[in-house]
Amino acid sequence: MKTFNYHSAKDVKEASKLASSNSAFLAGGMTTIPSIKLGLATYKDIINIKNIKSLSGIKVSGKTIKIGATTKHVEVANSKDVKKAIPSLAALAEGIGDPQVRNRGTIGGSIANNDPSADYPSACIALNAVIHTNNRKIEAEKFFKGMFETALKNGEIIEAIEFSIPEKSNYQKYPNPASRYAVVGVYVAKHKGEVNVAVTGAKPCVYNDKDLAKALSNNFSSSAIESVKISSSGMNSDIHASAEYRANMVRVFAKKAVEAC
Ligand SMILES: Cc1cc2nc3c(=O)[nH]c(=O)nc-3n(C[C@H](O)[C@H](O)[C@H](O)COP(=O)(O)OP(=O)(O)OC[C@H]3O[C@@H](n4cnc5c(N)ncnc54)[C@H](O)[C@@H]3O)c2cc1C
Repeated sequence: MKTFNYHSAKDVKEASKLASSNSAFLAGGMTTIPSIKLGLATYKDIINIKNIKSLSGIKVSGKTIKIGATTKHVEVANSKDVKKAIPSLAALAEGIGDPQVRNRGTIGGSIANNDPSADYPSACIALNAVIHTNNRKIEAEKFFKGMFETALKNGEIIEAIEFSIPEKSNYQKYPNPASRYAVVGVYVAKHKGEVNVAVTGAKPCVYNDKDLAKALSNNFSSSAIESVKISSSGMNSDIHASAEYRANMVRVFAKKAVEAC
């Protein structure tokens, strides 16, 4: 393991100032630490943001839920407020990894990392999330740019993620049997006037399936999904599932999610 400078920031301003193109923030360390240990990443500076109180917590106000970036998956899964306002979001958090991962991993770390198979990015797209950083507010659709790539700039810190409370929603995934990452996951959310169908695991980056969303906006029932063409073109193909299998799973899980709404 390569050496690095360790810093513990007292506030967001200090953390941002310490950051460079060769640094990482330490939230739960669930990606950063194994990446360093396996030699997949090296950093000059590791900046611990876990002790910054303003970055953690859950607030419901009116039509949204705002979740601080360093809030752990287990806190979202167990939150009475989340369970009441968006039960599918609490269930998603409960389905991440194992108890060890859920007790350390954070929502901010998950979306900053933007793993193609991560669960939270699909929630952000389906629930019209706004990502609050120390500099600006970014709509989820503009935040997730590509595989492990986001709109974040050097030193930019996610402070919170604000989700719109939908009329109804549900998330279904086929979990990798070892890690629980989504081989394919589909998050359906019905808002007033629109439906989002966010898909994770199928392509290099999470996306909103506009054809499924349109079909469900016209007729919110699983039968509406039957006639929608779901192409396997551009879908991931690996030892877990072929592109064709993934395309079929998108249909199956979209239907299951609508039926469970
Ligand atoms: C065994 C295992 C199983 C897992 N299973 C699943 C699963 O089923 N589903 C799933 O979705 N995920 C899964 N994960 C991922 C996990 O849930 C974590 O969310 C993810 O690894 C990120 O970890 P972290 O929150 O500890 O962030 P860290 O590892 O601390 O940081 C990750 C990256 O995000 C950046 N970062 C962190 N916080 C911020 C911030 N506030 N602002 C800007 N940048 C930030 C860091 O600079 C770093 O680049 C799994 C992980 C492991 C190790």
